[in-house]
Amino acid sequence: MSTPQPGGQGLVDCHVHLFPERLARAVRQALERYGLGPFAYPLDNARVLEDLVAAGVSTVWSLPYAHAPGVASSLNATMADLATELTSQQLEVVGGMTAHPEDRDPAATIDQGVAWGLRVVKLHCSVGKYSIADPGFTGMWEAIAQHRLPVVIHLGHATSGRTQAAEVTELGRVAARHPTISLIVAHAGHPSEPATAALMQAFPNVFADTTPVDDRPADLAPARFGQLADRILFGTDTPNTSRTVETSMEDVQRQLGDAAVLKMAETAARLLATVSVEPDARPALPGREDPA
Ligand SMILES: [Zn+2]
Repeated sequence: MSTPQPGGQGLVDCHVHLFPERLARAVRQALERYGLGPFAYPLDNARVLEDLVAAGVSTVWSLPYAHAPGVASSLNATMADLATELTSQQLEVVGGMTAHPEDRDPAATIDQGVAWGLRVVKLHCSVGKYSIADPGFTGMWEAIAQHRLPVVIHLGHATSGRTQAAEVTELGRVAARHPTISLIVAHAGHPSEPATAALMQAFPNVFADTTPVDDRPADLAPARFGQLADRILFGTDTPNTSRTVETSMEDVQRQLGDAAVLKMAETAARLLATVSVEPDARPALPGREDPA
């Protein structure tokens, strides 16, 4: 199979959720229970990828999240298989991995994910019911820094997908302790975009993605985000969003200008270019699982 270069010719959507059928159905049913939807896309990965290509997207980051301890590793294995299966000449699916602070060894889970070809980390505080500053993540942050993996983080704990300003601010503790890790605030912290912009001003390793929250686009007011444009990534939440990819692009272009989405593709490529897949570059921690 030929694999296009990350960010190659077209746009990059850094926030999509492509899952195997059963998991995709379970996730969507949960979202509908929370009152979200109707959704712009069916649960049909081939059809969704076709639509993304038609919108000019050539790379997607496909992001999983663990709802409980102990499931991240097998979920990551599934994501690795699916990324390989769905990558085509037209579109590269960059597989994401996840971890949970109550996993036996979140650092080993990350090492294992990298060995499987996964290159992005997703952490979802509401789904996993944890704080981003959870001490259970201490070793994991070291592993992430070692591999130079970008991390997309949904900081909010509300089932509506919304994030409070205090939840955004909490990421500052991680950003200060791990200045080399690129930390991407999902949904630009909607509706707490001002807190996200302030965090980005304070920490050069904090980024934001433009992913809408259900049918509400992120507020990317140029007065706040114009100066931070090289740290913004394009995202859509496809297929679990009420807005089409095109509509999300228009939302970004209207707020930050016509070239903004293309510039975001360059930023995404820059983040992936530094990922290190060196095995065992980090000293082993006691009791680490053997990456299988
Ligand atoms: Zn999402």
